[in-house]
Amino acid sequence: MSIWTTAGRLRGIAFTGSAQQLALLARHRKGESDLVRREGMWFLHATVEVADVPITAPEGFLGVDLGIANIATLSDGIRHSGKALNAVRHRHRELRRRLQARATKSAKRLLKRRRRKEARFAADVNHRIAKQVVTEAERTGRGIALEDLQGIRDRVRLRKPQRVTLHSWSFHQLGAFIGYKAARAGVAVIHVDASYTSQQCSHCGHVDKKNRPDQETFSCTSCGFAEHADVNAARNIASRGAAGWAVSHAA
Ligand SMILES: [Zn+2]
Repeated sequence: MSIWTTAGRLRGIAFTGSAQQLALLARHRKGESDLVRREGMWFLHATVEVADVPITAPEGFLGVDLGIANIATLSDGIRHSGKALNAVRHRHRELRRRLQARATKSAKRLLKRRRRKEARFAADVNHRIAKQVVTEAERTGRGIALEDLQGIRDRVRLRKPQRVTLHSWSFHQLGAFIGYKAARAGVAVIHVDASYTSQQCSHCGHVDKKNRPDQETFSCTSCGFAEHADVNAARNIASRGAAGWAVSHAA
């Protein structure tokens, strides 16, 4: 690359990236790039514009349920645990509590560094989940049904409001990652209203608070169907996705 400096133009400065990033840059680079300095390292932020692949007509839907204990649960039964991410967040909160008393410059710097590290870790986890979800949907010729996040505040009950903000931010990021990876693969994505998906039986449709006696268990009081609570919710999201798609593509 070449950059303008107060001493004139510097040419032939080497840069590198992952094989995938370099391939994308070579084919789809667009416009100017920004040079950013972060924690003593230099980063080049480049924009690429990749055309969407035509959407394949889906044969069924893969439902994705979002949560805290399990970040993402698929209607197939695959669960992505939130354990590692929650542990990182917990450690960070503890550190912040201890350091906030000392409002020194170095304490602030350390906190800033940790906050960024936590955000990078969360983004990495979301990238991996999104990739797995899109690959699985593509492999099986299905679309992806995601919950509409408008109502997530009401469904994810937490004691501290800032945690809701944190998690809902992370859920939006996961949704965005799934969205662009799916667009690249030509996989259909539909957003569904997820109210009562945790109380509704994915086998017979019966809705009852008592269907979910605790965090992990779903056991239908009407037909006896039993499943992990998050898997049951994901199955409901999948069938709402299929129904929603049928309605919007009926014409
Ligand atoms: Zn039932």
